[in-house]
Amino acid sequence: MTSSLAGATQEEVRRHNLGRLLRILHLGGPVSRADITRLTGLNRSTVGALTTDLARAGLAVERDPVGRGVGRPSIMVTPHESGAFALAFDLRVERTIAAVVSLGGAVASRREARHTNRDPDPEAVFRQLERLTAELLADAPAGAVCLGVGLAIPGVVRHSDGLVRFAPNMGWVDVPVAAMLEARIPGAGPIVVGNDADMGAIAEHLRGVGRGSANMVFLAGQVGVGGGIILDGRLMVGAGGYGGEVGHMVVNPGGRRCRCGRRGCWETEIGEEAVVRALGGQPGDPVDALLAEVPSAAEAGRLGEIGRWLGIGVGNLVNVFNPDVVVCGGLLSKLLPLVADQVRDELEAALTAPREQVRLALPGMDRDAALIGAAESVFAPLLDDPIGCVERVRERAA
Ligand SMILES: [Zn+2]
Repeated sequence: MTSSLAGATQEEVRRHNLGRLLRILHLGGPVSRADITRLTGLNRSTVGALTTDLARAGLAVERDPVGRGVGRPSIMVTPHESGAFALAFDLRVERTIAAVVSLGGAVASRREARHTNRDPDPEAVFRQLERLTAELLADAPAGAVCLGVGLAIPGVVRHSDGLVRFAPNMGWVDVPVAAMLEARIPGAGPIVVGNDADMGAIAEHLRGVGRGSANMVFLAGQVGVGGGIILDGRLMVGAGGYGGEVGHMVVNPGGRRCRCGRRGCWETEIGEEAVVRALGGQPGDPVDALLAEVPSAAEAGRLGEIGRWLGIGVGNLVNVFNPDVVVCGGLLSKLLPLVADQVRDELEAALTAPREQVRLALPGMDRDAALIGAAESVFAPLLDDPIGCVERVRERAA
């Protein structure tokens, strides 16, 4: 990114460096000024001026270090956790999770509510969100700045305006989620609505097992199979925001009918229903309980076919995207250890060059990956222009 600074004004350079410093604090936690100097290559007086600016804006806290050492110890700089936060929502098929996520990435408070039925009425869900938000904001630290709202949903989301075109497992078609949020939670700031696997990919890329990887495929499987793809360090969204729907990549044209209308999509072959069927269960049986009864990979023979389809799909993605890591999240994280041999055998058939560079990984984040990713999509503009972003929020609130 530094290469783009040729010809930049002094103010642009300062904004860029403030962003770099805040990113270090937000993603890495407390750090000494000396370490910031080492990490950024900036000189000591510049780092001192920048951290002071971040502290004045309410985004960082500077502290004299405790403990003994030789020479004058370096001032410690910490993200100001109660200075700014994002409101994050994770809409799932069966429940809604809402949280205040602080600068620095910690979940400061969290609420959950179950939906009353399988295809929840959007109005009822947004009434629920409004109530959860009121509870969360009542607990938020006084004086903290709300930077905006991020929402993750298992569906296809239009990037430009947060319209959910299709969320098959919730029964939603063309629901204007961002507009409904704006009506229910006015004044909370910019709203970002995204696919849950895309949000999970952002979280794994910034804070999980994909940290340091610029090219990553994140798979999130439960009812369906979602995907989020990071290319050159950025989320791939496609022309309208609909990119990364790997679950609807046809792998078996003679396979079962998918919710999207086609046959043999990847999610019909490796999704929850396929796993339940392979383990002798009935549709609707709890897949986690059935998988827990499979004691080891050696006794996972009934899952062999699913392992093969998993490996074929991953091989396709490796050939197309040349990722350095493929993360198997959700249901796939329980499946992968049981079918690792079949997956490896199928992956062997992928092109040698990209296959040699890829590793398969289990997620580094817990079940809150989509929630954290939703929060990170709110923090992103702050990390590009910390002072400007805070000034805009204060102007809005005035
Ligand atoms: Zn499909």
